[in-house]
Amino acid sequence: MSAEPEFLPFTRPDLDEETIAGVAEVLRSGWITTGPWNARFEQALSAYFGGRVVRAFNSGTVTMEIALRMMGIGPGDEVITTPLSWVATANVVLSVGARPVFVDVDVATRNIDSARVEAAVTARTRALLPVHLAGLPCDMDALYAIARRHGLRVLEDAAQAIGSTWRGQRIGSFGDFASFSFHPNKNATSIEGGCLVLPPDADAALAERLRLQGVTRSGIDGMDVDVLGTKANLTDVAARVGWGQLQRVDAFNAGRRALAQAYFALFDALDLPGRGVALPLRDFTDSNWHMFQVVLPPDVNRAMVMQELKALGIGTGVHYPAMHVFALYRSLGYKPGDFPHAERIGAGTLTLPLFPAMRDADVGRVAHALSAVLRQCGR
Ligand SMILES: *Cc1c(COP(=O)(O)O)cnc(C)c1O
Repeated sequence: MSAEPEFLPFTRPDLDEETIAGVAEVLRSGWITTGPWNARFEQALSAYFGGRVVRAFNSGTVTMEIALRMMGIGPGDEVITTPLSWVATANVVLSVGARPVFVDVDVATRNIDSARVEAAVTARTRALLPVHLAGLPCDMDALYAIARRHGLRVLEDAAQAIGSTWRGQRIGSFGDFASFSFHPNKNATSIEGGCLVLPPDADAALAERLRLQGVTRSGIDGMDVDVLGTKANLTDVAARVGWGQLQRVDAFNAGRRALAQAYFALFDALDLPGRGVALPLRDFTDSNWHMFQVVLPPDVNRAMVMQELKALGIGTGVHYPAMHVFALYRSLGYKPGDFPHAERIGAGTLTLPLFPAMRDADVGRVAHALSAVLRQCGR
């Protein structure tokens, strides 16, 4: 009797019993929104990022928006970013009234091409917003050198990069502002949430006011509002989940790296590169392997491949179509053809299952299924 193999999603959060019990304790405690666990989570994050100041928020998106506000970025300003990211990256620039200026990606890293960034700097440029896509760090040396030369701030969209490193230092442990997300698909989750690592010149109290209606309290009954804040505080329930995940994220990332290596071994044996499939950059030092993404050749119908894999019990995803061709960004003057590398990768990219609880046998199942489906497509 052979059982149907269980459906393999492209990702799945891993919450241990200790965390689940801890959440129950928070729920019973009488204090369920922002409180002691938020503070404890922020302290643990600060320790993780080398002692830097960290504040937690209820999403990675609002974390970035608040960072841009702290930099004083608004109408008339330009922020240089990549067209190949989750649309939140460019949306937050619009949210503060500034203009996202896209620079095409490098084909090998799929990250913003640092060699093209300087040509996009204008008198209005205020900041660089690089994204460490799939956890592979951008060229931090090149980007920070450009920022220094032109007096620009840097907000690293490190939503996918917890535990990634650059020259042996964790992303977030050095540099200017860095924003992380704890969405369930990320390498560590707080259900929903995010955190901002602040540079030494930033005002952590301002981050707190922007997080909660601009309110400052004083004495037992005093209150003032001096800035327009939003509603972006993290609940203690979420913080408890995030704290539990932070204890395990390095082990998660080691597991992801080993699974990625298993993918490469099989894809090389099946000659996927020779059959026109682009594999990710082989980085087993710096990347946290947030995702394993192949780029299918242009003649292969991605939707069909996804459908066939789904029928075989394998979930896949698309992360991401190039943003500049979305209707909202076309209305700003961008058009198809502007950033050919991002468009080509966005059209062909396919995220394969990768999460720490996967077994080598799951990797084998995915690799052989993908190879078979590509054969059906004439590859
Ligand atoms: C997930 C993600 C975000 C947004 O984070 P949320 O917590 O979902 O708001 C931003 N940028 C990138 C690159 C992401 O992957």
